[in-house]
Amino acid sequence: MEKGLLIILSGPSGVGKGTVRSYLLKDPSLNLAFSVSCTTRCPRAGEINGVDYFFISKEEFLDKVNKGEFLEYTDFCGNMYGTLRTYVDKLRDEGKNVLVEIETNGARQVLKNLHKQDEISIFLTCPSLEELEKRIRGRRSECECKIKERLEKAKEELKLACNYDFVVSNIVPEDCAKQIKQIIENKLKLSK
Ligand code: 5GP
Repeated sequence: MEKGLLIILSGPSGVGKGTVRSYLLKDPSLNLAFSVSCTTRCPRAGEINGVDYFFISKEEFLDKVNKGEFLEYTDFCGNMYGTLRTYVDKLRDEGKNVLVEIETNGARQVLKNLHKQDEISIFLTCPSLEELEKRIRGRRSECECKIKERLEKAKEELKLACNYDFVVSNIVPEDCAKQIKQIIENKLKLSK
């Protein structure tokens, strides 16, 4: 069986990666699976363990780090996030195209070990910082100091968009998902 594509999706907090992802996952033609990450962050209202993230303690996270279980991991605004190597490999070996939604530090770790043959990197950006702030505040999930921290982080992350194969602006999530679908389809055609 042909190995699936690795699709790295980054973009600042609040840009709408989750919404775009849900459109993409609804499209069976893309044969897509989402890589569920581990995090030490507390679940937000509505988030489900094993679906949105594997919510684990810091001790469990560090144990996985020591055992080399992460393809990449990072600290983001005071919480740890990591992609499970076996989770991604298993899905790709089953022929699934795997969407890995990670911030820029983790993406850099993954990208430096890749050969660009069956991987693709996409950076999601937003019309303005004001709009980003509106979206983060609209989520009502972070306290004021965390919102400020995430906005500062966003400014740093936006500077790194040029390291990605594609930059897509998320103005209307459904349209943005369509653009990403096109990018994935083109890549799949080229890698055949
Ligand atoms: P949030 O707390 O908003 O769910 O995620 C914070 C940031 O961490 C987002 O940019 C999200 O894409 C990123 N993220 C989620 N999972 C991972 C992961 O496994 N590794 C890395 N490096 N970043 C992740």
